[in-house]
Amino acid sequence: MRMWNVDPRVMCNQHILGEHLEVHMFVNAIIAGKKLDGFIRNGKVEVRNLRTRHYQLVKQMEHLGMNHLSPLPVFTNPYVEDGEVDLKESLRTMAFRCFKCFVLQRLEAGVLVQLEKPERLWQEWKALQIDGEERYGKK
Ligand SMILES: [Zn+2]
Ligand SMILES: [Zn+2]
Repeated sequence: MRMWNVDPRVMCNQHILGEHLEVHMFVNAIIAGKKLDGFIRNGKVEVRNLRTRHYQLVKQMEHLGMNHLSPLPVFTNPYVEDGEVDLKESLRTMAFRCFKCFVLQRLEAGVLVQLEKPERLWQEWKALQIDGEERYGKK
């Protein structure tokens, strides 16, 4: 369970839906009185930004024509010490784990103007896999 916090435009549909669900899971955990200390310490959640993040993800879901039927419940942030998600780490991990996110990052960065060389991109992504698991964890 984690927040990626990256620009939703560089996230594939599966990652958008996944993070959206996890934002709900974090909020449900807070409402249920469960401790998020481990997630906070490991930079997996920014409790203060859960509501804003939910909004960003829902906006992108709507933009992509997906339905959103799950308003975020009301909750209060019980944490004084909050987490800090490392955006660069999020981007690297997503690019390693997910070919679609990798391609979207390249497009957004202007490295690609269009998807003209899918096989070259695939080779690049495959090369990432060689030592990626050590750095970014198993998929
Ligand atoms: Zn929702
Ligand atoms: Zn993805």
